[in-house]
Amino acid sequence: MATAPSSPRRKRVILLGATGSIGENTLRVLRAHPDALELVGVAAHANTGKLLAVAREFGVRHLALFDSSAAAAAREELPTGATLHAPGVEGLESLATLPEADVVLVAVVGVAGLRPALAALAAGKDLALASKEILVLAGAHVLAAAKKSGARLLPVDSEHNAVFQCLQGHAHAEVRRVVLTASGGAFRDWPAERLADATVADALRHPNWAMGPKITVDSATLANKGLELIEAAVLFDLRPEQCAAVIHPQSIVHCLVEFTDGAMLAQLCPPSMTFPIQHALLHPVRGPVGTETALSLERLLTLEFRPADESRFPMLRLARDALRSGGAAPAVYNAANEVAVAAFLSGRLPFLGIPRITEATLAALAAAPAGDLPAILAADTAARAFAEQQIC
Ligand code: NDP
Ligand code: MG
Repeated sequence: MATAPSSPRRKRVILLGATGSIGENTLRVLRAHPDALELVGVAAHANTGKLLAVAREFGVRHLALFDSSAAAAAREELPTGATLHAPGVEGLESLATLPEADVVLVAVVGVAGLRPALAALAAGKDLALASKEILVLAGAHVLAAAKKSGARLLPVDSEHNAVFQCLQGHAHAEVRRVVLTASGGAFRDWPAERLADATVADALRHPNWAMGPKITVDSATLANKGLELIEAAVLFDLRPEQCAAVIHPQSIVHCLVEFTDGAMLAQLCPPSMTFPIQHALLHPVRGPVGTETALSLERLLTLEFRPADESRFPMLRLARDALRSGGAAPAVYNAANEVAVAAFLSGRLPFLGIPRITEATLAALAAAPAGDLPAILAADTAARAFAEQQIC
């Protein structure tokens, strides 16, 4: 008698940053694909209640909290059979290298996910990477780690996931340039003179995407697109002049890839992170739409594209300069921006202070060579200290 074909084993997923915006969208994808994906480990910074709730809902056996007091509190309420890994980066690394994991999704805001991401790749795990700061800081090291172990690096950032999709089946030499789209952020239609008075509440009112606060402010300054140009150059091995950005208010087209013969391929999907997350986690298989309605072309009215205004949004120009300068400049840009955004969010810096601090930090520190990983981490630390001094 013929036996029924056994269903393929589920992919086992580790999610670092499970309590954040990307984390929540990943959980939606996991709920929609229980036959294909299994959550085996989750980590967060300090949100004990939310992390424990995720662990209970998905029956997760491995947890980590970066903050040691949050970890101590979580220990009291761990679900039966679950293990709490060490606080700090060690716990994130031990989750990222668990023998039972297949793919590690890093969605930790900032650069705290760098060591866990490198550890995952060294252990041969596929890395689904949302944290763009990691690639901006240490892209060459991340790519080298993937190459060495043969693990796959799967972009989660929507534009880069879109480029990844458009490039399938094409040789690198056939690509003329890659164009990333930007919604334009909260201040897309504000005149330059109003920007000096922009408040935190104004900056957090994003027209199209619901995201964490840091990246929402980055969208308002266009630093997000600046970081993404650098991210694209790293991920797809492009020269600075091959990376471009355009404003596309509808956020339906996520990238355009122009080939040497003048043809362009675009990737379209609704402005929801569940689409790139699902693509990265199920890759190389395309699953059914799991979480929301796909695009309806019948209801699509217009797709607009316009140039980005670098005089109103100098963070884009500064990112392109940093990309051209190379060396430590991208790391300095990222660090100065992160410090300035934190100061803006806590009311210590006006909105236009973000490009001012970033430009001053780049002018002082960007000329250093990139060097090895300790050197690049030192450049990151120096840039943070310099930017902090400019704010006080
Ligand atoms: P959020 O601020 O919403 O969430 C951040 C997550 O990271 C939380 O789970 C937080 O835990 C966790 N975290 C912060 N620091 C640490 C740490 N030291 N150790 C462990 N976990 C930590 O951010 P987003 O989800 O918006 O963004 C995450 C990353 O994804 C960023 O790098 C961003 O640039 C990138 N990205 C985000 C997109 C989006 O749509 N949101 C789109 C494309 C990229 P806790 O809750 O405990 O603080
Ligand atoms: Mg993006």
